[in-house]
Amino acid sequence: MKIEERLHQLKSQLPPDVTLVAVSKTHPVELIREAYQAGQRVFGENKVQELTAKATQLSEDIEWHLIGHLQTNKVKYIAPFVKLIHSVDSLKLLQEINKQALKNGRVIDCLLQVHIAKEESKFGFDAEECKQVLFSGEVSGMQGVSVCGLMGMATNTSNEALIRAEFSSLRNLFEECSSRGASLKILSMGMSSDYAIAIEEGSNMVRIGSTLFGERNYSS
Ligand SMILES: *Cc1c(COP(=O)(O)O)cnc(C)c1O
Repeated sequence: MKIEERLHQLKSQLPPDVTLVAVSKTHPVELIREAYQAGQRVFGENKVQELTAKATQLSEDIEWHLIGHLQTNKVKYIAPFVKLIHSVDSLKLLQEINKQALKNGRVIDCLLQVHIAKEESKFGFDAEECKQVLFSGEVSGMQGVSVCGLMGMATNTSNEALIRAEFSSLRNLFEECSSRGASLKILSMGMSSDYAIAIEEGSNMVRIGSTLFGERNYSS
């Protein structure tokens, strides 16, 4: 099936208020161009170098999202143009994004990555840390970042009940923070294997790679 068909098929399954981030990591710019020509404008990459290399070759009206772990020393490369950073997992990183955003005269939209999966992961805040960051005076005083939502990844498992419970816990956190006055708009959860569950549990942004572009080949 062509990308255009896959894109339309996928889009037809998403409620209109759910944003599709087309995750193009490891795939060549030709495939991104195909998706672009079929109308897709939001693309996600997980590595800074790959993101910047692709961005320079492609149309300027693409909205680039960084969805993978970001090292503080690499923020400067994406600060001039990145649209949304999904994967803020430390206060130190947020401080650096703020600094680089101000250098570029920008406000960069950021999501706090929350660790919801049962399985081990190096990245993401736990719920308590997330609230501490969100409601710290320091973050609300940052002029260069807008923390506008939360992101999470469920355990990689066939156990649907577990996936659902993990997404549900993130949604509850999202609602708790919102009711306490945080102006959160984006709840980024769901990928190829679990986006339907994520949407049922309140996601309004899904990050989908292999369903759209096919399996990834990491050897090339
Ligand atoms: C790769 C990746 C995705 C997309 O995964 P698929 O299973 O190919 O849809 C989503 N989110 C993050 C953070 C990723 O790194």
